[in-house]
Amino acid sequence: NLSTNLIVPTNDEVGSLATAITDLGRELDEYRTNRREFFANISHELRTPISYIKGYSQVLTNGLISNEAEKNQYLTIINEEADRLTTLINDLFELAKMEEGKIDLNYEWLDIGDILNSSVKKVSLKAAEKKIEIRLNTVIDYPLLYTDGVRLEQVIINLIENAIRYSDDESRIDIYTKMYNENLEIFIQDFGMGIPEDDVPFIFERFYRVEKSRSRASGGTGLGLAIVKNLVQLLGGEIKFESIQGKGTLFKLVFSTEQKVGETNEKNN
Ligand code: ADP
Repeated sequence: NLSTNLIVPTNDEVGSLATAITDLGRELDEYRTNRREFFANISHELRTPISYIKGYSQVLTNGLISNEAEKNQYLTIINEEADRLTTLINDLFELAKMEEGKIDLNYEWLDIGDILNSSVKKVSLKAAEKKIEIRLNTVIDYPLLYTDGVRLEQVIINLIENAIRYSDDESRIDIYTKMYNENLEIFIQDFGMGIPEDDVPFIFERFYRVEKSRSRASGGTGLGLAIVKNLVQLLGGEIKFESIQGKGTLFKLVFSTEQKVGETNEKNN
């Protein structure tokens, strides 16, 4: 255990070195604990769908099911759980690449209105399933944004999908933009269940969920916001949110329209 405290006077060079080593040890311990927790989480998340698939396929092969409806129900579960595994593996892979800075970004000047319109179109089916209305309000003459459109759309879609997932049927989602100095702000507001105060500091952590069953039932992997946060950082933006339990959540994305963030990134890639 590296974090054992070394007792040395701290007012000389050896002392500061000892402090530095102690701090480093603490960081390393923390890193090891995080890593262990992360792998424990992964194996749990992978094991759950596998156990469903195994369980239901065993029931089916035992031939104990007489009626067709029940059989189809089990086959549907198996299919859904296989999809979940694929999503999970894809998400994990994405996250790993991002954390190593190994994703290619394709920067161009884009209109935020186009990005938002296209994102809303892609989630419209999911919104319709819950009879949720999405109100999109964009301003036409905003400055263009130098960004990776595919990745920014991924961020926005993820946030809207969460808004749908954690709202009741027949609710509403508002999406709007504002300019604040040279910054473009994108807001995604829902009137859903909100995030309890105690959970607020953790929601960007990998696998963190406030309500496991709701997340799972609607296809969540608990990795969505971790991916979102990484992507926003890679795109040179900021993400913030405010939430009131039982009332709803407001996510805000901030991107500069002046700074060509991508140009430096492009050179590095
Ligand atoms: P998940 O796949 O579970 O949705 P995320 O990483 O996207 O995982 O989100 C982490 C957790 O944050 C969710 O499980 C949920 O509890 C909470 N959360 C995220 N977005 C919202 C929202 N719009 N309203 C309420 N809770 C949310």
